[in-house]
Amino acid sequence: MPVLLPYPFAGPFDYRVPPGLEPKPGDVVLVPLNRREEVGVVWDAPADDSVPEHKLKSVVGVLDTPPMGEALRRFVDWIAAYTLSFPGEVMAMALRVVSPGAVRPVVRYRRAADPVPLMRMTPARQRVVDVLDRQEPRLLADLAREAGVSPAVLRGMTEAGLLVAEVAAAGSPFAWPDPEFEGPALSEQQVAVGAALREAVARRTFSVTLLDGVTGSGKTEVYLEAVAACLRAGRQALVMLPEIALSSQWIERFQRRFGVAPAVWHSDLPSRVRKVTWQAVAEGLAPVVVGARSALFLPFPDLGLVVVDEEHEAAFKQQDGVVYNARDMAVVRARFCSAPAVLVSATPSLESVVNVEAGRYAHLRLASRHGGASMPAVTLVDLRENPPDRGRFLAPALIEAVRQTLAQGEQAMLFLNRRGYAPLTLCRHCGHRMQCPNCTAWLVEHRTRGQLLCHHCGHTIPIPPECPACGAADSLTPVGPGIERITEEAAVVFPEARRLIMASDTISGPHAAAAAAHAIEDRTVDLIIGTQLVAKGWHFPHLTFVGVVDADLGLAGGELRAAERTVQLLHQVAGRAGRAEAAGRVMLQTFIPDHPVMQALLQGDLDAFMASEAESRRDGEWPPYGRLAALIVSADSAIMADTVARDLGWAAPRGDGIVVLGPAPAPMSLLRGRHRRRLLLKVRRDVAVQPILRAWLGAVKVPRGGRVDVDVDPISFL
Ligand code: ADP
Ligand code: ZN
Repeated sequence: MPVLLPYPFAGPFDYRVPPGLEPKPGDVVLVPLNRREEVGVVWDAPADDSVPEHKLKSVVGVLDTPPMGEALRRFVDWIAAYTLSFPGEVMAMALRVVSPGAVRPVVRYRRAADPVPLMRMTPARQRVVDVLDRQEPRLLADLAREAGVSPAVLRGMTEAGLLVAEVAAAGSPFAWPDPEFEGPALSEQQVAVGAALREAVARRTFSVTLLDGVTGSGKTEVYLEAVAACLRAGRQALVMLPEIALSSQWIERFQRRFGVAPAVWHSDLPSRVRKVTWQAVAEGLAPVVVGARSALFLPFPDLGLVVVDEEHEAAFKQQDGVVYNARDMAVVRARFCSAPAVLVSATPSLESVVNVEAGRYAHLRLASRHGGASMPAVTLVDLRENPPDRGRFLAPALIEAVRQTLAQGEQAMLFLNRRGYAPLTLCRHCGHRMQCPNCTAWLVEHRTRGQLLCHHCGHTIPIPPECPACGAADSLTPVGPGIERITEEAAVVFPEARRLIMASDTISGPHAAAAAAHAIEDRTVDLIIGTQLVAKGWHFPHLTFVGVVDADLGLAGGELRAAERTVQLLHQVAGRAGRAEAAGRVMLQTFIPDHPVMQALLQGDLDAFMASEAESRRDGEWPPYGRLAALIVSADSAIMADTVARDLGWAAPRGDGIVVLGPAPAPMSLLRGRHRRRLLLKVRRDVAVQPILRAWLGAVKVPRGGRVDVDVDPISFL
């Protein structure tokens, strides 16, 4: 019997089934491995049959835990094949929380509050209602026994909305969301879009819809209607957010709409909470899960809707371990579950836009902000003509705009996508730059902590009193701004304003995020200074001005998607302004006002920008008009990295529609002490990259201490 173990083996191992056990595919089993016992899953792919029958070890037992369903098993196989990972590695993500004795939540049932939906009252159902009439809530087992019905009857009544299941384990966070709790009165355009989404849910078939609409148009409100439809249909819904740990506003909003909080899933949850949640999902008792990437691997028995909010976000790409894009895999997951996928963004990725144009995705659009709020007016500050004062970073026009905003009792935001005080520290005397010893990167000054810090490996040193190269005292100078430095400047320029810094250093978890959001909503803060963290879906009604300190920042590297991502990020940041009655204003400080990115933001015409971006990618057959896969060589020594990279270069695939770029030193040729080289495979869209990659990797021997990582559809090229 084939059993897949959560390790990087080529495939399932073969085990003998002892008499009395009848494991089926998907069952979670305990099997011997070396001298230990390991948890694995009975798989349906053929096992390695090189071990002779009489040498096979036996399955120890079947765990009392919900089996891994067919849809999830096919999903695991699919991701493994697509990303060139070992199936066991992928399966591990689905199994991570299972252990013998996983916590079982206690489920109790009560009658639904009025209005009770219509359902034919069979004698069995009537008995259930009678039992609950005498006492409620009751445990599932007790209720079934006293009423003399099967659990299936109780599930049916729950799905129909006649019963409400409560997960009652201590600390267990979910009760049944009520789709009728507090629906909003939708505008005309929202009604139409909501109806289309509800239909997609009702069809119970796979489809993909891009829901695109300006910031503040009510996209969230509308896709929550799809979630409500899914709840009414008795199926589970998954909503993926890029930064779930910081999404307190989203959760509060869900609670207002459905009366209870959703189940939350991300990797920072305590393991006990994860176990309870995993079990509840598996038993269909967590009807709505909002989660990060890893929520894709939860064991939903009946997934009826997958929503990916902020679908353009690079944060959906998992870079370590199994390298996958959760946005794309969400679509695959939906396909295996015969469920609709809805991709949501005010700034959709070019991939999704092109899929709409090709007819692969349906398209729904909310064209204007809700409640008559207008889009913010954008202006550019040309830093060549209107520079800030010497040693400062805020131009006079921007300072004036913030002053006006504050004087009117409204809130302002300064955006700079750079943590810390200064990105570079150099010696005024000898020109020495403070560099990370483990990475091709400068050390970033974090003045409040008194440290220089590498943002890639975490290496820190105290800020030295003298230059480590020439020994000159007091000669180290910060170069360029980070948000700490902007905060310092703001304290001088706007001394009266109550300031709040929003960056991953200061907002480190759900509580901090919620506290910050409340402080802003309650207007105990006047000026918000933030990194990309502030771009994410927040709704601050009193915020009317956004100043972007360095709009050119993201364009520096010249990566494939640099322009697209800069437009998306800055448009999202700008979209925080003027979301309620008062009109919003946005100012972008730039040295390149004529750049297409700045012009697109100025004119608010993202469609035109995306069209020209598409044009330039089409010419070179870059994604989404071609396919990319990166090979990243890393090794303990530069010589070994070069050798492996050179061997890969020699073995590079050739053929019609195939191009290999490199080998070349990676832009981060040193990362966490490892030497890195890159090769990039570019193929025509109709060529599959996986068979090419398999043959290529198979032709090269990688010595100990070296490794080759594969990144299919890369979005980072560092
Ligand atoms: P988006 O997700 O497109 O940025 P939201 O769904 O967050 O937009 O809506 C923006 C704001 O407008 C939110 O505060 C939301 O509650 C409110 N809103 C949107 N549609 C409605 C509606 N039909 N009735 C009441 N408030 C609404
Ligand atoms: Zn480093």
